[in-house]
Amino acid sequence: MNNHSANRKVLISGASIAGPALAYWLDRYGFDVTVVERASTLRGGGYAVDIRGAAREVVDRMGLLPRLREAHVDTRRLSFVDADGAPISSVAPETLTGGAAGLDLEVRRGDLASALYAPLRHRVEFLFGDSIATLDDRPDRVDVTFDSGAHRTFDLVIGTDGLHSHTRGLVFGPEDAFHRYLGHVFAGFTLANDLGLAHEAVTWNSPGRAAVLYAHEPADRVHGFLILKREDFAFDAFRDPQAQRELVAAAFPERSWHVPRLVDAMREADDLFFDVVSQIHMPTWSRGRVALAGDAAHATSFLSGQGSSVSLVGAYLLAGELASHTDHAAAFAAYERRARPFVERNQALATSGGTGLIPGTQDLLDARNAALRATPADLAGPADPAGTGKRAAHNDVVLPDYDHAG
Ligand SMILES: Cc1cc2nc3c(=O)[nH]c(=O)nc-3n(C[C@H](O)[C@H](O)[C@H](O)COP(=O)(O)OP(=O)(O)OC[C@H]3O[C@@H](n4cnc5c(N)ncnc54)[C@H](O)[C@@H]3O)c2cc1C
Repeated sequence: MNNHSANRKVLISGASIAGPALAYWLDRYGFDVTVVERASTLRGGGYAVDIRGAAREVVDRMGLLPRLREAHVDTRRLSFVDADGAPISSVAPETLTGGAAGLDLEVRRGDLASALYAPLRHRVEFLFGDSIATLDDRPDRVDVTFDSGAHRTFDLVIGTDGLHSHTRGLVFGPEDAFHRYLGHVFAGFTLANDLGLAHEAVTWNSPGRAAVLYAHEPADRVHGFLILKREDFAFDAFRDPQAQRELVAAAFPERSWHVPRLVDAMREADDLFFDVVSQIHMPTWSRGRVALAGDAAHATSFLSGQGSSVSLVGAYLLAGELASHTDHAAAFAAYERRARPFVERNQALATSGGTGLIPGTQDLLDARNAALRATPADLAGPADPAGTGKRAAHNDVVLPDYDHAG
């Protein structure tokens, strides 16, 4: 596509959202791309993620809007119940997310990954079931060995391997230095859809805790989440799934609403996903010939609702700046200059929502429930008069047209 892209061999680690999005744009600009993914296949299904604001423009430029509209799970209502299970209120999702009704897309993470992967599968080399073992970042190249034993040489390596990024660990050191724990842990799993829920989420709260049933299109199974506040969490003490199950079960002793069903399902789930609610904050996203994108560089946490959108935008900007600069260091610097203010503004959404999903005290919970009972519109705040709210954050980035870069 342009002169700068000749002989640019790029290795991307991680094939979820940021990785395939970056691969798409680099391939479009003429780079020679390899993607290594630890899982043996592209991981499908899963909970739904949001594509809104600037990220919607990115997927539109990729020609993916028709496919993603088909995959849209179309959540129509978010309902809340009190500690006894009595209904409080139901609101439109946009009331809480600050999104744009009719424009935002909400698709299963796996469906988004598949949509990003489909145009690439015959154009880009994918190495499934493998992982980078060592990286030797040299002045003119990066020598890589893989767990499989293979040795390869690349011009650049980009880590898009998520919150607990392996690439980040190899190049920047232990996660502790960059990890900002937001004071909660959660368990996600699926369970039988005995209530016949569809296109909705129902949330039960007590101070510092939430139990959520989240249903996409009508189906036999729904997603369950149990989220709990916990100070100073030592993740290493809970690496064992049984310890994770015990921790979560002990935090939800209530016999009200569907809490016991959720706890039982969590105990038996073969798809349990347990993690901290955390962000990643790094002073810089690159070192030498290695850079990070997506959650690996700047996880925003699900409390922001923006992880996937920010990952799509960051991947677009990184690829575009690499296509626009001969010097990779200049490209990485330009990527950060463009993306960092957007990332930080969206990370801030995770901790700035006064009416949040998990009010931490009885007073905060009462205030949120009162606001919910009064009128759903109250939850949107004063309609964002200064443009400083969520929707502004979702759009607060310039997306240059890089097809003419170089
Ligand atoms: C429960 C939950 C709910 C969420 N809800 C929302 C939401 O509503 N809206 C939203 O926008 N975002 C949401 N998110 C966040 C969103 O899922 C992430 O921000 C997004 O998936 C980040 O994409 P990524 O590609 O950077 O990383 P990930 O999706 O984490 O992908 C990392 C990839 O790297 C692979 N990998 C890991 N280690 C290695 C290795 N050593 N070698 C090779 N590959 C490796 C993994 O297998 C995976 O495929 C949610 C997240 C969670 C956990």
